[in-house]
Amino acid sequence: MFLESPPSHKDRLKPSDTFSFCCHSDLSCFNACCRNKHLPLTPFDLLKIKKNLDIHSDDFLARYVVYRPDPESGFPILSIKMAGENAICPFVTPNGCSIYNDRPTACRLFPLGRFSGINPKEKNPKEFYSLLQIPLCRGIEEEKNWTIAQWVENQGLLPYIRMNDKMLDILFHPRRNPSTALTESQQQKVMVALYNPDIFREFVFETSFLTQFEIDDETAHRVKTDDIALLTLGFSFLKKALYA
Ligand code: SF4
Ligand code: SF4
Repeated sequence: MFLESPPSHKDRLKPSDTFSFCCHSDLSCFNACCRNKHLPLTPFDLLKIKKNLDIHSDDFLARYVVYRPDPESGFPILSIKMAGENAICPFVTPNGCSIYNDRPTACRLFPLGRFSGINPKEKNPKEFYSLLQIPLCRGIEEEKNWTIAQWVENQGLLPYIRMNDKMLDILFHPRRNPSTALTESQQQKVMVALYNPDIFREFVFETSFLTQFEIDDETAHRVKTDDIALLTLGFSFLKKALYA
């Protein structure tokens, strides 16, 4: 899960700190955590799940996502649309997660929370982990021990963290005025460049985009077929579009 603010000093965990956890289908809580929650979606999460489901990003957004602008910054906040009156994740099955290999960052982190940010006085991003308080989760009573670093590795989190933290360059950009929210047109740019890859690819190759935003031929070739290259272009484009 993402933390909205850094955990208190006493709750911060170092990469070498340990915790106990094991999740398996014999536990009474199996699947209970896949409901009734705000499950945030990062641009990279969306890319991975959309590819897993093999659907157009417009369809993915319409079927599986709820969206609202952050009241202060105006940046879009996306989360999985929980289904029915019991607010169940659309991807949960009696056997567990149907998109397990491409599950979002928050599900990989669980039962940990992670906060990342940039202190304006320092240039380097800082990250903090903490153990979430989840009364229903029996997995934390199991005896399997992990360090934070082992869990990050085991859950395949590194590529997710690398891509998710590209957002820090946008949120903590030196030209961003934190007291001004994005306009509607800026919000639309963020939505298309980061959260609607199929439409962004059309925008790149079927409009005058490439005459205004110069990229070399090799990058252009990669962006045509490689979703990660496309998302990386989305981040670069936004830095110019929002703060030029
Ligand atoms: S994406 Fe998978 S792991 Fe995450 S809440 Fe949904 S079913 Fe559970
Ligand atoms: S509540 Fe905890 S142990 Fe139970 S299924 Fe969810 S993550 Fe696993």
